[in-house]
Parts: sequence; C-alpha cells; structure tokens
Amino acid sequence: MNFNVQDVKNWLQKTNEQIQENKQYLTKLDQAIGDGDHGINMARGFEEAVETTTKKEYNHVSDIAKDIAMVIMSKVGGAAGPLYGTAFLRFSLSVKGKDPVDYTGLVQGLEDGLTGMKQRGKAKLGEKTLIDVWEPVIEQMKQTDEANPEQIIETAKRAAEKTKETMATKGRASYFKENSIGHIDPGAMSSSYLFLALADVLQGG
Ligand code: ADP
Ligand code: MG
Repeated sequence: MNFNVQDVKNWLQKTNEQIQENKQYLTKLDQAIGDGDHGINMARGFEEAVETTTKKEYNHVSDIAKDIAMVIMSKVGGAAGPLYGTAFLRFSLSVKGKDPVDYTGLVQGLEDGLTGMKQRGKAKLGEKTLIDVWEPVIEQMKQTDEANPEQIIETAKRAAEKTKETMATKGRASYFKENSIGHIDPGAMSSSYLFLALADVLQGG
C-alpha cells in the first residue's frame, strides 16, 4: 500500500462529505453534552480545508497535511480545532521525506498525531473524547502489516458508540459529570468519520 498526495485529497474530501452529511447529528450530540457548535465548527473547517487544498498542487504528503493542519487550526475553532490541527501537523512532520508513504509510515503518522493530541488535550483513553476513537483504531491498524479497511470501519464505529457508556472527565462535557453518560461524544463521532473515510481510501474507493 502506498499513500500519496491524491490519497490525502480523497481522504479529506470523503471526511468532509461525511461531516457535511452529519452536521446536524454532530450538532445534536454536542447540544446534549456541550455547547452545540461541533457540527458547525467541523463543517466550516473541513469545507475550507478541501477548498484550499484542491486549488493547490502538492509533491509531498507532508506538505498537503501541513496545509490541512493550518486551515483546521484557524477555521474549526472550539476545542476540536487545535486538537485536529495538531494531529495533522504531527502527521505532516512524521511523514516528511517519505513519498509515497507506506502502510507502516501511515500508521506511524497517525500515531504521532494521536500522541500530539494527547499532549495538547491532556486526555487519555476512557475520558470520553476523540482519543477514544483514535487510540483503538490505531492499535488495530498496528496489528496488521497491511491495511484492513473492514476492521478499521468496525473498530471506529464501535469505539464511537462505546463513548456512550463513559463519563466525561475532559473538555466541556466534563461539566455534565454523570449526566454525560448515555451520550456519544461528538468529537469521537467526528473522528469515526475521519477513519471511515480513510478506510474507504485504503479500500481503493
Ligand atoms: P468545544 O468543547 O470548545 O465547544 P468542540 O465542540 O468543537 O469544542 O469539540 C468538542 C470535542 O472535543 C469533544 O467532543 C471531545 O471529543 C474533544 N475534546 C474536548 N476537550 C478535549 C481534550 N482535553 N482532549 C481531547 N479531546 C477533547
Ligand atoms: Mg462544542
């Protein structure tokens, strides 16, 4: 498997499609345990990231990932903007000089992104945040030598759904304490879209 600039463009585009389609749903999730801006934030930022990057030509996966990071950081806002922005920036640094990026490089890039988000948000697994999707998906990806899109899809969906069971201890949702239980975390759901889109690209879709 080789992950090139066009794959990143497809990944971003498919993620954006999912976010635009589910914008109201993300809003609803964030209304329950937050301030209701996650759908709007993500829809605005990812739309802009697609627009910015489709206009430009890139020779390196690292360069397009850096541009995505910059747009997301400045346009998404909320807690999610700096977090997703950090993930793409760390991904960019991780894959620098690797073109095309092979499967190991891709997984390493994602893991570096996850590490960056954990540092930035000071969250660990089980705190009802987007980490609860990123970590199990990446752990799953590390189990195989080649991409297994079906497993990525299954893990991402299950992990997002599972955030329903936990109590939020980070971010705005933590103000809801026990009342956050029973609701899916909005950031976990938007992250599942990112990984469903990635699986689709890895499937050659
Ligand atoms: P805000 O909470 O500022 O309104 P968003 O609504 O855009 O920001 O994003 C909320 C999402 O951000 C949450 O659902 C959660 O997944 C994620 N999040 C919030 N705080 C943290 C944190 N400290 N670490 C990791 N993720 C976090
Ligand atoms: Mg919010």
